[in-house]
Amino acid sequence: MKIKSACHFILPAFLLLNTAALAQNMDTAGTGGQASLTTVTPAAKIDNGQTQIAALPLSTYPPASAAMPTKSALLQSSKKNRKPSKVADNNKTKKLAPKVLSKQNEDPLLISARIISSAKPESNDPQDKWVALTFDDGPSPVYTPQILAILRENGIHATFCVVGRQIKKYPELVKQIVAEGHKVANHSMNHDEFLYKKAKKKIKQEVLCENALLAEIIPQTPIEYYRTPAGNWNLSLRKMVAAWGMKPLGWSIDSKDWQRPGVEKIVSNVENHLHNGAVILMHDGGGDRSESVEALKKIICKLKTESYKFAFPK
Ligand SMILES: [Zn+2]
Repeated sequence: MKIKSACHFILPAFLLLNTAALAQNMDTAGTGGQASLTTVTPAAKIDNGQTQIAALPLSTYPPASAAMPTKSALLQSSKKNRKPSKVADNNKTKKLAPKVLSKQNEDPLLISARIISSAKPESNDPQDKWVALTFDDGPSPVYTPQILAILRENGIHATFCVVGRQIKKYPELVKQIVAEGHKVANHSMNHDEFLYKKAKKKIKQEVLCENALLAEIIPQTPIEYYRTPAGNWNLSLRKMVAAWGMKPLGWSIDSKDWQRPGVEKIVSNVENHLHNGAVILMHDGGGDRSESVEALKKIICKLKTESYKFAFPK
C-alpha cells in the first residue's frame, strides 16, 4: 500500500466526507484532557482544565472529578494567564452575561467544538448504565491484539485513538480494529503534546494527514473523533477539529495506566470514579502496556458485575 503519498490525494475527499457529517454531529459537552506520556507539564494541564470548564454546558457542571483540575488550580491559572478576550476558553464562562452565552450557543462551530466525554446510551431505558472504553497511542503489534481479544471475548466495542506513525507500520491492525466493530479516532501523526501551540499549517499536517492515511486503509469508515495528544486543547484547536468534521474527544475517567502504577492501582483508578456515561481512558500503545491488558480484564469484570453496558462516546 502506497501510504506515503496518501495525504496529498485523499485530503480533499476526506474533507468533503466529514464536512457532510459535521451537520449531524452537534453534541453535548464534556471534559477533555489526556496524559498518555510522562512529559506533560503543569502548564499544559492547567490549559486543559480550563478548556474542560469552557466546554461544559452549565447544566452539567461539574463533570466527573477524575478529569477536573482542583479549584485552587483553576483560580490560580485564571489569575495568571487569562485576558478578558479569552473568556470563552476558561472557567469565567460561568460568569458571562446571558446575552453573551446566548450568542455563543448560536454559533454551530462552537457547539461542535465542545469536548465530548460521555458515553452515548444505546437504549431509551433510563435504568441502563453506559460506559465507553477508549484506547490510545496504538496500534501496537504486541498489545492491540491482546486487547482486541479481550473485547471480543466479552462482546464489547471500544474506540481506538490511533497514532499516524503507528498506522503506517501496522495498517492491518487498523483494518482489524474496524472489522471487529470498534471505532477509530484520530490521535495525530506524531503525538506532539504541544500541537495546540503550533502554527495552523503544522496542526493541519498532523491531523489531516492521519485522516488521509486512514482513508487509504479503511476507506469506508468516516473518522468521527479527534483526541489531541495529552488532551492539551485550546479553543482554536477545537474549532479547527470541528471545522474538519470531527468531534474533539476527551474522557471522564483517566485510568492512569500510562503511569504503569500496577494492575490493582489502574483498576482502582477506574472503580473510584465510576459513573454512568463515563468515557474511560486506557492505552494499547506508547510503551509497555502489559499492566493495561491485565487491568482491562478486571475492569470489564467489575463493569459487568455492576450491570454497565458498553457504548461509544457521543
Ligand atoms: Zn496519546
